[in-house]
Amino acid sequence: MKQIPYGRHSINQSDIDSVLDVLNSDFLTQGPQVAAFEKAVCEYVSCKYAVAVNSATSALHLACLALGVKEGDFVWTSPISFVASSNCALYCGADVDFVDIDPISYNMSVDSLREKLIRAEKEGKLPKVVIPVHLAGLSCDMQKISELGKEFGFRIIEDASHSIGGEYQGRKVGSCQFSDITVFSFHPVKIITTGEGGMCTTNDAELENTMYRLRSHGITRNPKEMTEAPDGPWFYQQLDLGYNYRMNDIQAALGISQMKRLDQIVKRRHEIKDYYNQILADLPLKLPQESLDSKSSFHLYIIQVLEKNLKADRKEIFERLRVSGILVNVHYIPIYHQPYYQKRYNYSYSSFPEAENYYKNVISLPIFPELSTEDQDRVKEAIIKPIGHQVLF
Ligand SMILES: *Cc1c(COP(=O)(O)O)cnc(C)c1O
Repeated sequence: MKQIPYGRHSINQSDIDSVLDVLNSDFLTQGPQVAAFEKAVCEYVSCKYAVAVNSATSALHLACLALGVKEGDFVWTSPISFVASSNCALYCGADVDFVDIDPISYNMSVDSLREKLIRAEKEGKLPKVVIPVHLAGLSCDMQKISELGKEFGFRIIEDASHSIGGEYQGRKVGSCQFSDITVFSFHPVKIITTGEGGMCTTNDAELENTMYRLRSHGITRNPKEMTEAPDGPWFYQQLDLGYNYRMNDIQAALGISQMKRLDQIVKRRHEIKDYYNQILADLPLKLPQESLDSKSSFHLYIIQVLEKNLKADRKEIFERLRVSGILVNVHYIPIYHQPYYQKRYNYSYSSFPEAENYYKNVISLPIFPELSTEDQDRVKEAIIKPIGHQVLF
């Protein structure tokens, strides 16, 4: 039985050739490819600056540091995300809190955000940074979030790990029209890949400069930034405590090649989404919502199992799919359920009713460029066929 994963990278011959070219070149890291990849992403999303790093986790950490997140600060994000969206704040010594989601888009709810801000203002606990997450590739309502940012004085990092190639109000996600920094992930399950990798985009030269320095130990070679005149041409200075978060040229070459295919990949994801919408329309499932304001990149195709229908709950449908070799997943377990977060903050589940309800019912179906319509038909069959009524092997 052929196994179908929920997500998978798409690598073609030109991707492979690009990587081989680097392997045969003079630089495996810190050569010309990283800057060229940054330029390609900048041009694609229409943003001034980009800083490539070795993962979106590193990118989120650098973004928080560049915005001055430190002990005593609060950072808010969505509970329905990967743990990296909130861990980045903890790395900086700040505290994390979550904003409940919207039951339709599954993104951070703007109404819940506003209510929480009003309460926090009274308690003197306003966040320094809010990190909206574009779940499944669908942009959050960035204009409204940015208006709240101005009103309540917080900065914004978009966690766009799922949404390169997506659009909001006619602009590409990553343009930072309504945020300080946007973060992309190039992990193999995401839209495009560099094996491992991430990137920050921003229109702010100072933020770019800080992130650029921090990705490589906090070191500068620019005499203008130094505290004294250079001793000689070999001279560099470490100005802050940075990290080795660099992307290498092998990864960047793959990224450049993948960027050329991005629109095609997103188009293919939309075809898969359209076919699912068609074949699943009659089942008692809630299919992903699309929005007039934004074009999702469809990193994930998330369904909700409406209980008491299909004579099965989410767990049973999930098991039906898994025994059929369809490696579905759940995105995500609310971050505040994680033992580390529970021990540290003891969040009450009842503070996030929409996240709880979402988590009870969702399944991420397979979606990736090479998924065939036959594979999709198999997914539907598995959803409707009770276990035991089918021949498994
Ligand atoms: C994948 C992911 C990350 C982390 O990405 P890495 O590149 O693996 O570090 C962060 N946030 C979200 C929402 C993600 O899906």
